[in-house]
Amino acid sequence: MENLEKLLSYVNKEDLPIIQKAYDYSSCAHSYQTRASGEPYLSHLVSVAVNLAELKIDAVSIAAALLHDILEDTLVTEQELTKEFGEEIVSLVKGVTKLNKYKFNDNITAQAQNWRNMLLAVVKDIRVIIIKLADRLHNMRTLKYLSAEKQKNIAGESLTLYAPFAHRLGIYKWKSELEDLAFEILQPAEYHQIKTQWEKRAESNTQNLTDVENLLKEKLLPSSIPFRITARPKNLYGIYKKMERQNKPFSEIQDLFGLRVITDTVENCYAILSVINSGFNLLEGSFTDYINVPKSNMYQSLHLTIISDKNVIVETQIRTEEMHQRAEYGVAAHWRYKRRVEGDGQNAKEDAKNAMAENKLDWLKQFLEYQKETTDSGEFLDTLKTECNFEQIFVFTPKKKVIKLPLGATALDFAYAVHSEIGDTFMGAKINDKMATINAKLKTGDTCEILVRKNIKPSVHWLEYAITAQARSRIRKYLREHSEQQTQKSASKK
Ligand code: MN
Repeated sequence: MENLEKLLSYVNKEDLPIIQKAYDYSSCAHSYQTRASGEPYLSHLVSVAVNLAELKIDAVSIAAALLHDILEDTLVTEQELTKEFGEEIVSLVKGVTKLNKYKFNDNITAQAQNWRNMLLAVVKDIRVIIIKLADRLHNMRTLKYLSAEKQKNIAGESLTLYAPFAHRLGIYKWKSELEDLAFEILQPAEYHQIKTQWEKRAESNTQNLTDVENLLKEKLLPSSIPFRITARPKNLYGIYKKMERQNKPFSEIQDLFGLRVITDTVENCYAILSVINSGFNLLEGSFTDYINVPKSNMYQSLHLTIISDKNVIVETQIRTEEMHQRAEYGVAAHWRYKRRVEGDGQNAKEDAKNAMAENKLDWLKQFLEYQKETTDSGEFLDTLKTECNFEQIFVFTPKKKVIKLPLGATALDFAYAVHSEIGDTFMGAKINDKMATINAKLKTGDTCEILVRKNIKPSVHWLEYAITAQARSRIRKYLREHSEQQTQKSASKK
C-alpha cells in the first residue's frame, strides 16, 4: 500500500514500533470491512494517519488515528484496546468515537456556534478534534462515492463546523481544503464559475508573479540573507467570500495569489523588509506587522503589497520558517517545534522526562498560555475561554436542538430554557430515554425530553428544583400573578 510507505516516511524511527503495531492491529480488526469506494477500510485509516503525520503531530495521535474507528466498527472492546495500547491512545480513540455519536441535522447552520461550543466542551484533549479534522478531510476527499443527499449533509457540516475549527486551531491548509471541497458540493455553479475564471487569469498571473519573484531574488541575493520564495494561491471559497463581502466581480479581485519570503530569523524578516522597501513601490497603507502584534490565532508575518514596474499588484508575506510552519499547521506545529527545541538537550533522561510531561500536557491549557504570552488582542483567547467554559453544559432536545445551560442545571431548567410554557406545564422528563426526576441534573451530551400536561401549574417547591435565572423568575412571576388572582377572586366573593 503506497500510502503506508508515505506514512512511514514521515515517522521518526523511535515512533515506528507503536505505529506499526497500531497498523497491524487495525488491519486485523477491520479486515472484513470495505469503504463505499470498494477499497479496504484500512486505506481510510492510513490516509487519516498520513494527514496527521503531515502536521508533524505526535506518534500517539497517529497511532490513535489508525485505531480511530475500531471501537465503533469492530468487536474490539475498550479493555482489549487499553491492554494493547495504554490509556492515552485509548482516551483519544474514545474521544473521536464519542464525537461521532453526535448526529448533526439540518439545523446546523443556525446552530453552528452552539455545536462548536458543545464539541469543545465534550473533548478534554484538543488532539481529539485534530484527529476528527483529519478524518473529515479524508472523508471529504472521497465523498463522491456517497449519495447526493449525504454529500450535501457532510459538506454542510464541514463548512459550518469543521473548517472553523481548523481555522481556530490555525491549520490553514486543512481549512482551505475543507472549504473548497464543501464549496464545490454546496454551490457547484459558483464554484465552477470562479474556478474557470481563476484558471484563465492564472496564466498571465503566473508570468507577472515570476517577474516580480525574479526581481525580488535579484535584490535579495547580494544581501547574503538566507531566504526562499514560494507562491501562494488563495482558496476559491476565500475568493468567493471576498467577492460577496466587497460586492465585487471576480475581475476586480486583486490578490488571487501572493508571494511568501521565508527566512531564518525575525531580524532577517525585517532586513528583507528594508530591502523590499528600498527596491519596490509599496501600495500605500498595505504594511501590517503581525510579527510584533500577532493575530489572535498565533499567526505571525509581515504583510505588504508590492506594485511592480508593470503595475502588477502582489501581496507579499515575510516570515520565519517557524512562523510558516505555524501558519500552515497551527497548534500542531507549535507543539512540534517546542518539542524539538526541548529535545535538543543531550541528556536522554531529560528528554524522556520532557516527553512524558508533554504526554500529560493539557493541550488546550498550553495553547491558552501561549496565547496569553504572544498576543495583545485578547479576542481569540476570550472566545476560546468561553467556548471551553466547563461551567456550561449543552443538552439536546429530542429534535437535536442544542440548549446551553449552566453547570448543575436540572430537567426543570431545561424545560424552561426550551419554552416558558413547557416549563409551566412540566409533568416529567426523560433523560436519554429514561424517566428522570424534576431536579435531575443534566450533563453535556444528554438528550432531554419534557413531558407536559396542560392542567399542571408551577408550585412554590419548584423554586428548589430550578437554578437558572430564567426558570426561577418565570416561576416567581407565575406564583405572583396566581396569588394576585387568588386575592382578587376572594375579594370579589365578598
Ligand atoms: Mn473515520
